Amino acid sequence: KVVVGTKVDHNHVNWVTAYNMLTGIRFVVSRVNAKMNKPLTDADFDAKHKFSFDITGNELTPSAKYDFKFKDYSPWVFRHLRTKFGLDPADYLMSLTSKYILSELGSPGKSGSFFYFSRDYKYIIKTIHHGEHLFLRKILRDYWKHVEENPDTLISQFYGLHRVKTPFGRKIHFVVMNNLFPPHRDIHQTFDLKGSTIGRDFKEENLADNPRATLKDLNWLRRDMNLNFGPHKKDLFLQQVERDVKLLQKLHIMDYSLLLGIHDLTRGNRDDIRNNALKVFQPGGSENDELHGSMLQRTPSKMEKARQARELRKIINKEVPVSLDRTSNRLPDEFLEQKKTVFYGDNGGFRATHENDQPGDVIYYLGIIDCLTHYGFAKKAEHFWRGLSNPKDQVSAIPPQGYGDRFFKFISGLVKSPEEAARDREMREKV
Ligand code: ATP
Ligand code: CA
Ligand code: CA
Repeated sequence: KVVVGTKVDHNHVNWVTAYNMLTGIRFVVSRVNAKMNKPLTDADFDAKHKFSFDITGNELTPSAKYDFKFKDYSPWVFRHLRTKFGLDPADYLMSLTSKYILSELGSPGKSGSFFYFSRDYKYIIKTIHHGEHLFLRKILRDYWKHVEENPDTLISQFYGLHRVKTPFGRKIHFVVMNNLFPPHRDIHQTFDLKGSTIGRDFKEENLADNPRATLKDLNWLRRDMNLNFGPHKKDLFLQQVERDVKLLQKLHIMDYSLLLGIHDLTRGNRDDIRNNALKVFQPGGSENDELHGSMLQRTPSKMEKARQARELRKIINKEVPVSLDRTSNRLPDEFLEQKKTVFYGDNGGFRATHENDQPGDVIYYLGIIDCLTHYGFAKKAEHFWRGLSNPKDQVSAIPPQGYGDRFFKFISGLVKSPEEAARDREMREKV
């Protein structure tokens, strides 16, 4: 059994924070969604709104379980971004707050950020440092413009920027973004690639204990792997990476990576239990109350009930096939209302292709993540110190122009159709 993340329940140290985050999101997102749509203005980018929640409630905010303050940033910009990224407003709210369940992936990076998955694994909440928060606000116009011009951008899709403040005055900033990995498919291998080799190695001997570990550049090179795309997908992919990297360079961003999850279609889904969320829609199945029922005594809202009824009706009317994936007892992919985008259009990912552009055996789930590190003072210091003992361009903290060039060069070098890769290997063996 593989458990992805720790369920955040009443006994979890971060239960109150998580509850407050979701309560705040529910309120501010409903609030902006209730208004008539309007085009964005300059002021929308700088907008911020403060709300106070308490157990009694007041004319502005509903009552909540705990006292806390909540701040919402640029709500109109994020509403427009969610639309651009093809999110259904009701679905977004449902996923995040229909049940107060999150799973926490205890700080997987060294930055100290916390990651929470929405109950259905569609969204990730990442806590960010104050500096990253200020930076996102500063670049929001450029980000918006980039998304407008590049609806298929591979850069993290930001859906909201908020802050909670506890009664003790601790401020926690966080973003809501897309989970690159699908709730409905096993990811057999994960890589976080930067195009640098120094310190970019997951110790192979620890892999046995942790088969799902995120591997890095050196592990990738050691495996002599490629991103298998034929000419058409190769062009699409590299053109987008290039445009995205140009933006990141322009904004003096660095330290980002290509996050890559590989689903091997020949292995399929076997050992993954992430998908509890879909149990509720299984024909004849009932919700797993033991896992999810006790979090917060709350009966489903009208909207939730209507949606569940809608899903069930689809099953009954056979609008969607009901056969479950035999190996995993899970619903077919048609259940996930997917927007047909270029890189997330093949079952939520981007399927490998051969030299003749025929489909291959794996689906890649990929995107450019961790894009809020500005090349500021801290990084300059790191560059200086690490640069003393390492060859200069291999240190991961190099200035943004060089970082982006190296990143793009590395990624371009990985993209080869299986046939091309085989020819290259043959050539090397001859030498
Ligand atoms: P650091 O700055 O030390 O690299 P961080 O706290 O900023 O760490 P990230 O690099 O953003 O964290 O992410 C760490 C890991 O979390 C990734 O390697 C990946 O496994 C997972 N992760 C982050 N963002 C996503 C995403 N959008 N979808 C799926 N997984 C993600
Ligand atoms: Ca990172
Ligand atoms: Ca980071």
